Amino acid sequence: MSTEKTYDVIIAGAGPAGTTAATLLAQYGYRILLLDRDQHPRFHIGESMLPMSEPIMNRLGIKWHEGNLRKGGAEFIDEKSGQRTFFPFQGKYSTVQVERSVFDTRLFENAISHGVQAHQQEKVTQVDCNADGVTVETDKGSYHGRYFIDATGRSAIMGKKQQSINKLSKLGKFALYKHYKLADTPATQSLFCRGHIEVLLTELGWFWCIPLVDQRLSIGLVVQKDAPADLKGADLFNHYANQSPRVKELLEGAELLADVRAEADFSYFNQQRHGVRYACCGDAAGFLDPVFSSGFFFAVKTAEMVADQIHRGFLEGREAAADLHSGSDETYQKGFQTMYLMIERFYCSNLVHNLFFEADRQERIKNEIIALLAGDLWQEDNSFQQGLLSGRYAGLKESVA
Ligand SMILES: Cc1cc2nc3c(=O)[nH]c(=O)nc-3n(C[C@H](O)[C@H](O)[C@H](O)COP(=O)(O)OP(=O)(O)OC[C@H]3O[C@@H](n4cnc5c(N)ncnc54)[C@H](O)[C@@H]3O)c2cc1C
Repeated sequence: MSTEKTYDVIIAGAGPAGTTAATLLAQYGYRILLLDRDQHPRFHIGESMLPMSEPIMNRLGIKWHEGNLRKGGAEFIDEKSGQRTFFPFQGKYSTVQVERSVFDTRLFENAISHGVQAHQQEKVTQVDCNADGVTVETDKGSYHGRYFIDATGRSAIMGKKQQSINKLSKLGKFALYKHYKLADTPATQSLFCRGHIEVLLTELGWFWCIPLVDQRLSIGLVVQKDAPADLKGADLFNHYANQSPRVKELLEGAELLADVRAEADFSYFNQQRHGVRYACCGDAAGFLDPVFSSGFFFAVKTAEMVADQIHRGFLEGREAAADLHSGSDETYQKGFQTMYLMIERFYCSNLVHNLFFEADRQERIKNEIIALLAGDLWQEDNSFQQGLLSGRYAGLKESVA
């Protein structure tokens, strides 16, 4: 049976981006329909958060320290050379490590409590946006609206429709990861007490070690260089895990909770992020690489920008203007480009050895790096960021603009 309903804004995707946009627009008083093909709670990778998401969580009414492990900062370790450096997050905002199935469900339920109408297990199949309005077709019905938001994550329905997805080849190629319940040892006690993400450099790429509540650990291998042809999946993961003294130390006596999972082809940029009566946010606008834990932050930040701009458009009667998001999109690009350059340098110019391990000797540079790692990407006086953008701007343009 077909249903036909009219809304102010129709949002596809109820991950962090979709639920953030939905809640903010509902707070402004609009009638919102939020559609997701899946059902919360659902598994999602991406557990390490950045401090600059906290002010957005505050707007949503989410107290993110509740039920989550406090994250003290990010530590980069080269086990071969014994070098390590720690970037503490001690600014105005603090951050956490979250179990995404639980946290995303909280964001979803919070959206509903703000009056958002939500349909789960309903897949958006077609979207038509023109000067008169928006029509969204799903596998269960058809809806009309004044505006459409694509928050479908890596499904990126608008990007695929417009064929505007640009793959980024220099970043991580694929990731293999597992979840464990760790034994109670001095090493694990210290890990959970500090709550840091640990980034362990390997010859193929790097491992993340993310401590979660209830003594659990998310551990992933991100591969950027060509892996040995005879090693695949769990064998590849185990081979490199066995070479890491730190991984072996943490996993001593651990119980495997979920066997190896994989994600591939995650580095891309959507060149067409907005148009007449639509905008993309979160991974639907682009995703770089997990190394600096920026995905969730960009998801909620872009959702906030898009929601505030749609509100402005409605107020000013400019909602059908093709350039409604141009200004905020430029702001987004500055942050996205900065993070792209940091990640590109991480893989291609040995950023950790050449700069991170040296940063303890220069307090200003260290603080500027911490600001960027925290998601504070729009300060005018960050000279490290300025250097990054001016020195590599041409190269970046070729890749992502
Ligand atoms: C290996 C890996 C590790 C990562 N680690 C981190 C990390 O530590 N920290 C971090 O911040 N980020 C991390 N990320 C990135 C982070 O997970 C994402 O950036 C974040 O989830 C993006 O949120 P989103 O709302 O845009 O998309 P999603 O969370 O993917 O949500 C999209 C939603 O859209 C729904 N959907 C899709 N298609 C349709 C459709 N046609 N109709 C209806 N619904 C649809 C999906 O069911 C889903 O619920 C990682 C990513 C990868 C690949």
